[in-house]
Amino acid sequence: RQDKLKKFIGKKTMTKDGLVRELAANIAAPEEAELALENDAEGIGLFRTEFLYMNRTELPDEEEQFEAYKAVLEKMGDRPVIIRTLDIGGDKNVTYLDFPEELNPFLGFRAIRYCLEHPELFKVQLRALLRASTYGNLKIMYPMVSNLEEVRAANALLEEAKQELSSESISFSSNIESGIMIETPAAAIISDQLAKNVDFFSIGTNDLIQYTMAADRLNEHVAHLYDPFHPGVLRLIKKVIDAAHQEGIWVGMCGELAGEEHLIPLFLGMGLDEFSMNPGNILQSREIISKWSMSEARELVQEVLNLTSSSEVKKRLDFFK
Ligand code: PEP
Ligand code: MG
Repeated sequence: RQDKLKKFIGKKTMTKDGLVRELAANIAAPEEAELALENDAEGIGLFRTEFLYMNRTELPDEEEQFEAYKAVLEKMGDRPVIIRTLDIGGDKNVTYLDFPEELNPFLGFRAIRYCLEHPELFKVQLRALLRASTYGNLKIMYPMVSNLEEVRAANALLEEAKQELSSESISFSSNIESGIMIETPAAAIISDQLAKNVDFFSIGTNDLIQYTMAADRLNEHVAHLYDPFHPGVLRLIKKVIDAAHQEGIWVGMCGELAGEEHLIPLFLGMGLDEFSMNPGNILQSREIISKWSMSEARELVQEVLNLTSSSEVKKRLDFFK
């Protein structure tokens, strides 16, 4: 199969009727950019930056971060690279920071929540990102947003970092897009309002499923409820895509579902613009998209969103049996 997929290298990601979509890679360390290129990723849809902070004894400084971001931006050339700001907390604990003991870490002090309380730490990352921006096509993305104030506060710190660099005569790109992950139900529900204030969305289904279903993504006892095919999850995703397009911004997905072969036609039909996934799934996804026309995919959406259970949805989407 992998050999057969090689013919999709260098090809556009295009539906049967000629609509072009974008397939990007998720990476968690600079070295993985190589794998993204080998699989012909059209960009990096999610560069997780936690690796810089984990398994060590002190914070990474601006220089170290700058070098890591620059390496990936240079490697990817013109292709867009979405770098996500720090998402520690939850399951990703860092021993040298003052994280409180929490009863429900996934509902607690993590990601943008932590960064906004620690602007001194967050600004180091923002400065490093801005400095790296001149080496490629950078977009900045904030994780775990649940209200508009967080977006405004994060962008205010980004502005501050820009002012600082300007006053130090350090250059950065003037047109960096900034966007947010949609991974809390609250953000999904107010996505029409959020869309007016950001350049793009990327749907984080790993978390969006766990919060929508109230089922811890790491707890095996509720694993059956952690269900990507639940009509509630799918309707919420559709709502986010519609809200983005209503406001004229693009919307991607960087949770595991973006590379799930049964769901790609459905998200295609919903109008998802960018799919970001494990590099190893890219060529297969390009093949799947090439087999659908938009009218077929839209019909599928109409059908599936009227189904009343996840087992019916699963059955309808079982194209490979
Ligand atoms: C997600 O929640 O879907 C996501 C991509 O982020 P992470 O898995 O790093 O929480
Ligand atoms: Mg997440």
